[in-house]
Amino acid sequence: MSAEILQTFVVSSNKLKYMARPVRFNLIEKDTSDRGINQVMMPEGHMGEGFFATSLDKVVGLARKNSMWPLPFATSCCGIEFMATMGSHYDLSRFGSERVGFSPRQCDLLMVMGTIAKKMAPVLRQVYLQMAEPRWVMAVGACASSGGIFDTYSVLQGIDQVIPVDVYVPGCPPRPEAIIDGVLKIQDLVQDESLRRRNGDQYKALMEGYGIQ
Ligand code: SF4
Repeated sequence: MSAEILQTFVVSSNKLKYMARPVRFNLIEKDTSDRGINQVMMPEGHMGEGFFATSLDKVVGLARKNSMWPLPFATSCCGIEFMATMGSHYDLSRFGSERVGFSPRQCDLLMVMGTIAKKMAPVLRQVYLQMAEPRWVMAVGACASSGGIFDTYSVLQGIDQVIPVDVYVPGCPPRPEAIIDGVLKIQDLVQDESLRRRNGDQYKALMEGYGIQ
């Protein structure tokens, strides 16, 4: 290395040393109330120096809520809106739901998007049955919720004729914001669900109503 290059290198290194950006910590809590954004809060409990105690229900609810794995059952146009919801602009992964699964084995949120023909209904039901408990269902758009504009002999007039639904998202098609709102509603249900609900008489009666053991 020539003396001139060495000199330049030393000067640049010194400059870098003085130009280094100071490390800043984001300690100031932002006021997001005007934007309607809810920050994830710790569950209710008792806190003291070096410990925090809460109930198992709340911890499990918090973990499940923020790690939903959706199974998209998309048959038509509403599925395109879901693709936009997964894209970088809307980014469903902000809610812990970026792991989309196309197998019912690990997924816990069945998102039905599109027109469901009566011939497709047994397939949808089969997918639901293959999902392990606890599982939740979201009907996205008018077609999945009620048959939409297709009041015909061949279209199922709402998926709740064959499987129980937790949240309905209106619209033809619903915008990605509406789908995200539906996911937030599901998250509220998941967070507040008792660990014993699935073993309760009410839930069993619901399942029996659909002919599911
Ligand atoms: S609700 Fe409208 S946009 Fe969605 S699948 Fe039906 S016709 Fe298409």
